[in-house]
Amino acid sequence: MSTGIEIGSVTIHRIVEQEGPFFEAMHFFPTMTRERLDENRGWLQPRFLDASDRLMLCIQSYIVQTPHHTIMIDSCVGNHKPRPTRSFWHMMNSDRYEKNLAASGFSVNDIDFVMCTHLHTDHVGWNTRLENGRWVPTFPKARYLFSKKEYAYWSEVHQKTPLDNISESVLPVIEANKAELVTSDHALNDHIRLTPTPGHTPDHFAVCAGRGGDRAVFTGDLIHSPIQARYPELVMRVDTDRDQAVATRRRFFERYCDTDTLCCTMHFPSPSVGHVKRWGDGFRLEYVKD
Ligand SMILES: [Zn+2]
Repeated sequence: MSTGIEIGSVTIHRIVEQEGPFFEAMHFFPTMTRERLDENRGWLQPRFLDASDRLMLCIQSYIVQTPHHTIMIDSCVGNHKPRPTRSFWHMMNSDRYEKNLAASGFSVNDIDFVMCTHLHTDHVGWNTRLENGRWVPTFPKARYLFSKKEYAYWSEVHQKTPLDNISESVLPVIEANKAELVTSDHALNDHIRLTPTPGHTPDHFAVCAGRGGDRAVFTGDLIHSPIQARYPELVMRVDTDRDQAVATRRRFFERYCDTDTLCCTMHFPSPSVGHVKRWGDGFRLEYVKD
């Protein structure tokens, strides 16, 4: 059984759904130049970039155990969901996620809260599962925390152009009265609070864990790949506000640089977590052992 990372009174587990090459780097980071990519190949390949210049990413959830609760942060892509424009996420039918959940000692009944840093497909998927042709909440005892503003934004988009991730992974949770719409600086209690990190989406939040301070922080998609730590100005293709995303990323990394806070990224390849260090005008993670 995987024991997780213990820091103070919280324990952190990574529940991996997928890991490997996904998006083409030059496409994913539209302001990346060929020269810059070439300059950085030495440390990027093969761990963070494959031979075809595709980014190596991890799709995962974090589970944080505090003295009070068992909390899931982000819920990956999920099974049986049609994502025709993303072949690697289309109609997944894998037991890997549930097996990894079990290997860390959890069942779906153990989760008290699910927190979605934002409402993109790969962060809301396991919010629901298919049961007799209907999408039902996967974690029957959980309250699901979404940003009220983030939810309002995507609801409006969804009304104009229906979005599968909203109709399949978000609305069924709302309809089941399992959702709590909160502000992106919401404090759950003395161990868990949200912190606003907008830019990738309008009201994206990060999650801070640990009694009396930030012992660990969960980035969501304020960063996708270590190349964006090295160059915080590299925007991601679908950032809703690029300038804001850059400012958020830089502020976040400045804040945690050279501190004891464990930075838990959502998409960096395993082990995905480490301490923030300076690297030139940017940053890097000093990874903890897996
Ligand atoms: Zn993501």
